[in-house]
Formats: sequence, C-alpha cells, structure tokens
Amino acid sequence: METIGHLINGKQNLEAKRTQDVFDPSTGKVTKQVALASKITTEEAISAAQAAYPAWRNTPPIKRARIMFRFKELLEQNAETIGRLIGEEHGKISHDAAGELQRGIENVEYACGAPELLKGEHSKNVGPNIDSWSEFQPLGVVAGITPFNFPAMVPMWMFPLAIVCGNCFVLKPSERDPSAPLYIAQLLKEAGLPDGVMNVVNGDKEAVDVLLSDDRVKAVSFVGSTPIAEYIYSTASANGKRCQALGGAKNHAIVMPDADIDNAVNQLLGAAFGSCGERCMALSVAVAVGDEAGDALVEKMSQAMQNLNVGNHANSDNDFGPLITKGQQQKVIGFIDSAEQQGATVVVDGRDLKVKGYENGYFVGATLIDNVTEDMTSYQAEIFGPVLQVVRVKTMQEAMKLIDDHEYGNGTCIFTRDGEAARYFSDNIQVGMVGINVPLPVPVAYHSFGGWKRSLFGDLHAYGPDGVRFYTKRKTITQRWPSSGVREGASFAFPS
Ligand code: NAD
Repeated sequence: METIGHLINGKQNLEAKRTQDVFDPSTGKVTKQVALASKITTEEAISAAQAAYPAWRNTPPIKRARIMFRFKELLEQNAETIGRLIGEEHGKISHDAAGELQRGIENVEYACGAPELLKGEHSKNVGPNIDSWSEFQPLGVVAGITPFNFPAMVPMWMFPLAIVCGNCFVLKPSERDPSAPLYIAQLLKEAGLPDGVMNVVNGDKEAVDVLLSDDRVKAVSFVGSTPIAEYIYSTASANGKRCQALGGAKNHAIVMPDADIDNAVNQLLGAAFGSCGERCMALSVAVAVGDEAGDALVEKMSQAMQNLNVGNHANSDNDFGPLITKGQQQKVIGFIDSAEQQGATVVVDGRDLKVKGYENGYFVGATLIDNVTEDMTSYQAEIFGPVLQVVRVKTMQEAMKLIDDHEYGNGTCIFTRDGEAARYFSDNIQVGMVGINVPLPVPVAYHSFGGWKRSLFGDLHAYGPDGVRFYTKRKTITQRWPSSGVREGASFAFPS
C-alpha cells in the first residue's frame, strides 16, 4: 500500500516510524498510509527552509513571481489529477474540487504581483537633505497548518504569498487527505522553485508542536477548528511568533419577509449542503423573520431537497459526497438526534441514507430542522455536516441579536429586497464576512479572508493585502546625504 511521505529540501522523504490510515470516505476502505513526521523529521524540514532562506531572500521579487506564473500553468494543466486526489480522500464531487482549486489558483495569481505588492513607501525631503522609506522584509522560515476540508485551496491561501514575499515555508497539511497538498508542492518544484524554499511535513500534533516551539520558525498561519486554533495561537504567541489562527464557524442567513424566497432557497441549497456542509463558510442556520417567510422557506426548501443527489466524487451529477470520517458521520447524526430530543422538528431526515454501491461510505443525506432555538446543542455547536436549521424570529433586530450573541463570527448573509435593511445589517452585524443576497461571501484573492469573535485569533486576516502584511515586517529607513562641505552641529532637542 502506498505511503504518503514528506517533501523536504526538494526530495521525497518517507520516514514513517508512525503511520495513519487514509480512507476513501465513499467506500470506507483504507486506500493509503500517511507518514506522521517525528520531531527529527520536522526539524529537518525547518533546517532545509532555514538553509534556503539567505539566497531566496535576495532573489529579486520578479524572479520569484515568474516561478509563480509557471506554477499557475502547472496547476491548470494538472487540474484533473488534483481534483481526483481531493475526491478520493475528501469525497468532494469533481465540480466542487475544481472550484476549490480555482480559488486556490486565484491566490497564486495575486502572488504573481509580488514586485508591485512589495514596492514599499517612499518620502523625499522629510527634512533638509533627508529622505525616508519603508520596505517590507521577509520574516524567514514560516509555517502553515491546514484543515482537511480544503486540502488544495487553504494551503494556497498561505504559501504562494509567503514565498513571493521572500520567506521559506514548511506546510503541515491535514493527515486525513494528504495527497493533494503534497502533489501541489511537487508542481511548485517543477515550476523551478529552489529546493528547501517549500517543504511539506505530513503529521499530527507531534509535528505541529515542533513548528510551534522551534525558534527558527518566525510565524505560523493556522486554519482549522476553534479549540485547536486557540491552542495554536496561545502557544505560538507565547513562543514569540507572529500568528494568525482561523477557527470554526456557525454562519446564519437572515431571510427577510420581503425576500425572493425561490432565490433564497436556491442559494441556501448550495451554501448549506455543498461539500456536505464541510465548509467554514457553509450557511447552517436560516433565520426566518416572520411566520410567513418561515413557512414558505421550509415548504419550498423541503421540496427542493428531494432532488439532491448524494454519492461518489467521480460522478459529477452528484451534488455532494460523504463526510470525511465515520466519526464525523456519527457526530452529525448525534446532533440531529439531539435537536429532535430537545424539541425541534426534523422536516427532512438524512440520517438513514444509504447510497447504492457505497453502503459503507460515510454518507448523511441533506437534513432540514425547523423550530430550532438558541438553547439547543445543535444550534450552539458547529455541526460541519449537511444540516440546515431554521430558527424563527419576529424581527430583524431579533435575528441580528441571535447572530451577534453566537460565539462564532465567520460569515453571514441577508436575503432581502430592501437596500436600507441590507445596509443597516452589513454596517452593524458582528461578523467578518457579510453577503447581501450572496450566500457564500468568500472574499476574492485581492481582498483578505477572516472572521470575527472566536472564528479568528490574531489581527491580520488570511491572504490578500493582510497576507502581505502578515508575511513581511516593515523596516523604515531615514537617510541623509549632506551637501559637500556642510557640517551640522550637535543638537540635543528631539529631531523635528
Ligand atoms: P482540526 O482543527 O481538527 O485540524 C486542523 C489542523 O490542525 C490539522 O492539520 C491537524 O493535523 C492539526 N491538529 C489537529 N489536532 C491538533 C492538536 N491537538 N494539536 C496540534 N495540531 C492539531 O480541523 P479539521 O477537522 O481538519 O477542519 C475542520 C475545521 O476547520 C472546522 O472547524 C472548520 O470550520 C475549520 N475551518 C475554518 C476555516 C476558516 O477560514 N475559518 C476554513 C476551513 C476550515
């Protein structure tokens, strides 16, 4: 059976004292093993990055960008292979995997602008014969730790920008679907990146803890669940590292009484059930304002849900695939059970779904739960499955309070025809990414991505302009070249 190893200093490394099974979630079968890097192997990757840094730091940004241009072409040429690797280990349907890859490529395109992004700021004559400028210098070795649900896109939120900014990178992808990120890193080598600039260590907490404690790692980007994000942020910060740690979510969509309900239902279908609900921007709660909107939404949504196809990743007629693990399947079913026990109404029930030919896959069918209230376990937790819960309220203020009171603040959306209400909502809601009749307001690559509250620990969001700031440190230089023969006397006043 194939073992997925590491990429260190441009070479495949198969150190595998400990390994873990990799599953095909559609069949429940073990298809590969993944090596779990030891402390020594992780340190080797950091050493390789550290050794490559001096030359890479001094490589002109335009040359770094040219490698990214070639990398983008290779990603496009190999899109099918990447999509297949994602499908086999994550279970994502081919069209969804293609969308993920495209959003990753857009981050590579942004990174191609390195010479422009790193231009810095210049002021002439800040004093007599004095000029001053700020430049953005790389940090050194930086690390990325990524989740299972976007094995291609989320790593590309990080390493393309970090690398064009002059840093060397160590990526620790999710051990549940390790093949796509490793393959992508090999394409970067093929694009001409010098060995050691990009390294991949597969592994678990043992590898992560080395990245968090080794003094040579200057910054850590993390995306994953909130408890781990909090651990990463507090540990990395205590060890003097710059850190951005993006966590979990519970994204609400408000459906206003004046909304186009048919349109809202279509948008909610994809946003709630796409990727089996395993997206940090999935809309998992619909807040209906008024009983009329609530009744229409539940009726039309339950009808539309009858037409959803669930199955294997390779069949592009399917709308979504399985959950990532058996444990996650049981967890999602447990949340549906708890909602029912606590008094909610399960309108469409996906708990007993069996997919023909894939009876051992980790499938749960699309589920709609009505009359959910704030005190229910299923409302408070991030379910991360194909479950849409409906909460009924009387006013928009009540809906907004519900959202603001939730511990997470990643994404949200309002469906309405009322511009004034939409503007009030986007202005005041305590959430980092807001959609107005847009269900998945994932910022494009030239903006930055991040939630508020316990959906993000740190100050700077991921990728885009915040990404450039995160992966560089500002240095400000003030320079005087006195005219020949001019000598200034000593002065003890503060320079002004
Ligand atoms: P996870 O937190 O279990 O794992 C994320 C990464 O952390 C993996 O690389 C994993 O190996 C590592 N890890 C896990 N446990 C660890 C530990 N105890 N110590 C050190 N490292 C550890 O997350 P997941 O299940 O892979 O991904 C799903 C979660 O990610 C969801 O909560 C989802 O909302 C979140 N997510 C957030 C965003 C965002 O942008 N906010 C994007 C994608 C996913």
